[in-house]
Amino acid sequence: MLYRRRKLDLPHGKVQTPVLFPVRNIGKRSSDNTPAYVGTIPDFSTAMINARSIRNREPMWNRLTNGVTLREEMDVPEDTIVFADSGGFDFTAEEIDTTPAETLDTQAQLGADIYGTVDVPLSRENRAAENQRRIDQSVEYALEASDRHTGDALLFASVHGYDPETIRNSIQHLEKNGDFDGYALGSMVPIRTDYKKVTKLVLSARQATDKHLHVYGLGGIVYQPLLLYLGVDSFDSSAFIRSAGNRNYLIPGFGGEPLRNIESLDRLPCPCPVCGQRELDEIREDRTALTKHNLWALAIELRRFRYVVEAGRDVEEYLDLRFQGNEVTRRAYETAKQQVRRLT
Ligand SMILES: [Zn+2]
Repeated sequence: MLYRRRKLDLPHGKVQTPVLFPVRNIGKRSSDNTPAYVGTIPDFSTAMINARSIRNREPMWNRLTNGVTLREEMDVPEDTIVFADSGGFDFTAEEIDTTPAETLDTQAQLGADIYGTVDVPLSRENRAAENQRRIDQSVEYALEASDRHTGDALLFASVHGYDPETIRNSIQHLEKNGDFDGYALGSMVPIRTDYKKVTKLVLSARQATDKHLHVYGLGGIVYQPLLLYLGVDSFDSSAFIRSAGNRNYLIPGFGGEPLRNIESLDRLPCPCPVCGQRELDEIREDRTALTKHNLWALAIELRRFRYVVEAGRDVEEYLDLRFQGNEVTRRAYETAKQQVRRLT
């Protein structure tokens, strides 16, 4: 097992890893708003934000450059730990409209604790040559950010690749030619249903560096235990919001369950502050409550994994049970297990 615990010392405080950065849709023109969770769910004093969409939201950006802090704008305590990615995911389809310099300026203005470098994500539909161009571009952007970066915030180089060798080479090249506090693996979301492939790619990144490893976008209830097992230090997710939108109820230890499949239940199988006192009917009609529960479910999943490790229980045995209910994820975990065993 590659699971590991570390501490990050950041401008706004310390964070114990592994940790989830729940996605805050602040700045996005979207109805999928993130409910308040900082202060309610003690595990998450963290947030992932999109630097570009905040900068492009004019009234908000004006407030932020006129003395309002990002944390005030988000209505969270000033010691909330913020990871600002470049917003590169939007460049899957759109033209790149930012530079490493402008992104760093924005991240600094926002008072982020961790900066992700500008990246141009890959697509499964792209030809190999186009994806290679994007990989090289992201590496160049990362090196430029490394040259320009000053201050106490951590700089994570965003890395992409759809084969293990490309990822390994990119990280080694960045390690040699730049100065980064960690690496953030992107472009996994478009291939997330290919668990075997994602597992191999994450493992290649984990092997290429001992520094902090973040995986963009894969902190949902199924991926979380897999990533913990593979030694990933942090991840982010908006799955708790999207699942609530789809009326999907996340259950720690199991995964997602459409609410329509369990309509006859009065009480839900979760004692979190949302579900413990309420009946299913109330939660079904309250999307914010469902979103909050889903985030609790992610916290509980993480707590449970930590418990298994701390109590000295057999993690692989726990994961055998955890994944036995779904053939696809069970096979992905089996692949991961074989690969990890070869390493350790
Ligand atoms: Zn609950």
